[in-house]
Amino acid sequence: MIVDQVWTANAYRNFNYLIACPETGEALAIDPLDHKMCLKRAKDKGWRITQIVNTHEHEDHTGGNKAMIAATGAKLLAHANAKDRIAGIDRGLDAGDVVKVGRTVELEALDTPGHTMSHVCLLSHTDTPALFCGDTLFNAGAGNCHHGGHPAELYETFAGQLAKLPDATMIYPGHDYIANNLKFTLDREPDNTRATELLDGVADQDPAKALVSNLALEKEVNAFFRLHNPTVIARLREAFPDLPDTPDAKTVFLKLRELRNSW
Ligand SMILES: [Zn+2]
Ligand SMILES: [Zn+2]
Repeated sequence: MIVDQVWTANAYRNFNYLIACPETGEALAIDPLDHKMCLKRAKDKGWRITQIVNTHEHEDHTGGNKAMIAATGAKLLAHANAKDRIAGIDRGLDAGDVVKVGRTVELEALDTPGHTMSHVCLLSHTDTPALFCGDTLFNAGAGNCHHGGHPAELYETFAGQLAKLPDATMIYPGHDYIANNLKFTLDREPDNTRATELLDGVADQDPAKALVSNLALEKEVNAFFRLHNPTVIARLREAFPDLPDTPDAKTVFLKLRELRNSW
């Protein structure tokens, strides 16, 4: 499996992705908003884009579909429940469905509601797994729930699915928000030395050569995975004095999500 992370350099800081089979040159495009850039990258590498996956229905993820399909004839895949929100879906995806690319690549669809209620992530069946997580999980952060999502569902997705993936799982999000998200982590947990070091490392990074984190690193620097951390809980109590002494993980997650909305 070859992964090409395409930095669009747009105002929304979107990452698009091309995933190619090294044997056949067939490729799948994830959320190819910048269809021109994706098409050029595929052409330069000799790949043929045969499928598009939209992680969810937001325009900054679906906006390139029409032009990409016109240029390639690619089939469009998205969450089965997105059929009324995304035009022209050829294949609706349910949890556990496998998307094949060429002869060598298999990607498993995860049903990951929260940012929206018809959001899929793709998990590669490779020695080192890779997760293409759209706007569900960001480097050091979590998707918002302002446009069709629900925080409680996002928590269930994090705790019930994402946190249980292997620590080595590579994380490929839909946007580059890492520096800002690390600042939020440090606002919540000022003594997180790993987050401090990482922020130093990525503050000036070129997103075209972005650091790719894995789940182990996320568990160290992403507040939304650090729901039992004493500093996180103590700081949260400053904002929410009614918080119980030992709040459950869901309560901590929801309060963090609430704070992040206005941070
Ligand atoms: Zn979105
Ligand atoms: Zn987005």
